[in-house]
Amino acid sequence: MRLYSTLQREKVDLPEPPGPIGIYTCGPTVYQRIHIGNARPFVLSMWLKRWLEHRGYEVKLVENITDINDKIYAAAPGHSAELAADAARWYVEDTDLLGLGRPDFEPKATESIEPIETLIGELISRGLAYPAGGDVYFRVAGFPEYGTLSGQRPDRVQEQEGEASPLKDDPRDFALWKAHKEGEDTVWESPWGPGRPGWHIECSAMAEQFLGPKFDIHLGGLDLVFPHHENELAQSRGAGREFAHIWMHNGMLELTGEKMSKSLGNIATLRDVVEEWGRETVLLYFLTGHWRKPIDFSDETMAQAAAQWTSFLNAFLMRDAPGAAGPSWEDFAAVLDDDFDTPAALAVMHEWRRAGQYSLLEEALKIFGLIVPQRDPPETVLRKATERQRAREAGRFDLADDLRAEIEQAGWEVRDVEGGFRLVPR
Ligand SMILES: [Zn+2]
Repeated sequence: MRLYSTLQREKVDLPEPPGPIGIYTCGPTVYQRIHIGNARPFVLSMWLKRWLEHRGYEVKLVENITDINDKIYAAAPGHSAELAADAARWYVEDTDLLGLGRPDFEPKATESIEPIETLIGELISRGLAYPAGGDVYFRVAGFPEYGTLSGQRPDRVQEQEGEASPLKDDPRDFALWKAHKEGEDTVWESPWGPGRPGWHIECSAMAEQFLGPKFDIHLGGLDLVFPHHENELAQSRGAGREFAHIWMHNGMLELTGEKMSKSLGNIATLRDVVEEWGRETVLLYFLTGHWRKPIDFSDETMAQAAAQWTSFLNAFLMRDAPGAAGPSWEDFAAVLDDDFDTPAALAVMHEWRRAGQYSLLEEALKIFGLIVPQRDPPETVLRKATERQRAREAGRFDLADDLRAEIEQAGWEVRDVEGGFRLVPR
């Protein structure tokens, strides 16, 4: 199995199964219902975990919840802690709608203050961080590798958004700890005075807490490469940890469809989209895009995903494809093992659908959380269909037609096949 890594700028091999494989995914900052775009790294992480486990790996997936952040203070002045607790619960509820299970650990920044302070202390003792007026800053000039992940020359790195401060030695430096400010309702004691952690340091601390100083995969949206992941890498490697080996960055959602904004408003929350289209269509939609590429979100692309899901459902209802030869399971596995190419895997699944390879198709859909409902006709419908067949055999076609109508009213269609009948949901 190999995956494209932003750091090495090529596909990097995973160790042979069983690993173990540690995955750390940067989760949401919780202050509102998550957007459909925020669901992509969650879906990708869960699918990757499920596929690796299918391939015989032991996987530990950690996805953090950022519940201390300027955005939360701004969204709920004076009661940010309550908002963050509510929004963390909404996040779990909403992602549960996808039916993919949960990461193994979902630590919150507020529960990780101790390892965060320990790591900051280590960086200070190594000369890579300095306290200044109650804040603590990372010294970018002390870490020559800085800029490697995002491909910037260390001397050309721009000052990061929201990081301007006269207390800094160098505009490139960024905060590890922020002194308490008026209006912030959450505050923790620290060796540098009361305050709260900066955003980037929580991921360095939590990844190590749950996965150790070295792990295989770090995952997050493409928008996090700089500064967030560049800073995580600098903090952890600066403190002497190997940290993540493979850095996966998923492409962003692009909202181009005009109709989408009319029907859903500009904020397409995951919850709204699942309600409107159903969880299977949402999952099918994410399958259609390669994880590294941007993916277009519109009524059109969702309708196409819905049509694809319907084509699978119909295939299982009818089961009338020829049962011809199709691609093998190894063909399916090969495209997923090569950079987790879900559009190519989806193409294999459609070939199975057309060929009538139902058990392979069902197994493949299950990996992605797509369950084909098994519908057996109820006893009463089955009895009527049997009576109808006897009526036909006895030449009582009026009775047979009446029974057909009753069966239809119960939501089933009876089809005559050689030697009997088949019941198909309407
Ligand atoms: Zn992070």
